[in-house]
Amino acid sequence: MPTRINKGLEDSSTKNKIFSIKIVVPLLIAAFLLFYNFNQKKELSEYKETQALFGSYVTIHCLYDEREDILGVVEEGWRRLKEIQISMNALSVGGYVARINKSGYDGVQVSDDVYRLLKRSLEFSDLTRGAFDITVFPLVELWKNAARSRQFPDETAVTNVKKKVGYQNLKLKNDNIVSFKVSGMKIDLGAIAKGYAVDEVVKIFTKNKIKNFYIDAGGDIYCGGKYKKKKKWTVGVQDPRNKTKIIDVLRIEDAAVTTSGNYERFISLNGKKYSHIIDPVTGYPQDGVISSTVIAPTAEKADALSTALSVMGGKKGIKLINSLSHVEAMIIEDKGGKLKKYRSKGYKKLKK
Ligand code: AMP
Ligand code: MG
Repeated sequence: MPTRINKGLEDSSTKNKIFSIKIVVPLLIAAFLLFYNFNQKKELSEYKETQALFGSYVTIHCLYDEREDILGVVEEGWRRLKEIQISMNALSVGGYVARINKSGYDGVQVSDDVYRLLKRSLEFSDLTRGAFDITVFPLVELWKNAARSRQFPDETAVTNVKKKVGYQNLKLKNDNIVSFKVSGMKIDLGAIAKGYAVDEVVKIFTKNKIKNFYIDAGGDIYCGGKYKKKKKWTVGVQDPRNKTKIIDVLRIEDAAVTTSGNYERFISLNGKKYSHIIDPVTGYPQDGVISSTVIAPTAEKADALSTALSVMGGKKGIKLINSLSHVEAMIIEDKGGKLKKYRSKGYKKLKK
């Protein structure tokens, strides 16, 4: 009897088990499918668009949950980029920079954001001991004109134009008034504006809780959050001699990467390529550095510093980067045809 009872009991518990398996298994499958679909949906929702801006191409790539939310936000981002393009381009008539260059000697009132960017530009000049200098524009024009007329400028021309260059002569006064101390001075935000613009879009995304994205403004890149399957974004540093080759692959999360180099933008004179980055102290195009890559918390910082490092060169440049926190860099010099790479202390950790 006990055996039977036991058997009977066993029977009913087995039945219960089968019953619960019948319910639990389909429930688990349904839950898995729901979870899988949800994740699939998440992975499938991507926005990617490229537009011609800043004399280059800008790409915005976002991963998101709901399409309705994202379109309004990226639209705001594109609008902001276009606004900055006009206000910061030295050649766009009516923009703040063009106005400063026209009437800077008398003083020009600018918007809060332009004023603040000019202030930070002067701080970058101090930090890099003048290697980064937005007042370099008269020299930029001199070298561009030389390339156009295919005539190497003589020393006197360089010396004369250099008198109009010097960030110490750019004055930021009360009430957002910007003025030049020397007549004929001009500014150029080409070395920092794209980075600043990228950061402005990052701000818009952060405000709207968009975490996983990248923005690439012609080499000024910001990677927000992570890519699919929780992997960090990867950014390839190109070989300055061969665009199809990658030197290093970096893993980046919530940081910016910018490369300055003369392999894409350069001045051609007497059959020789010259950098579009000018050494404000000598007045001549920088020579020696063929690419400098900076990784920093903001695109503005990465942009300004990468330009400065091209002027400073490998040794001095890396010394400066090693003295800053949360900033890494790689500088590549051409040493008689051979490439010499200088890397900051923490750069290796970013490599894949
Ligand atoms: P990037 O491509 O960010 O290195 O910026 C290069 C651009 O910045 C050039 O095309 C010039 O318009 C401008 N520029 C050239 N030399 C300097 C310099 N030493 N400091 C600041 N801006 C510069
Ligand atoms: Mg730059």
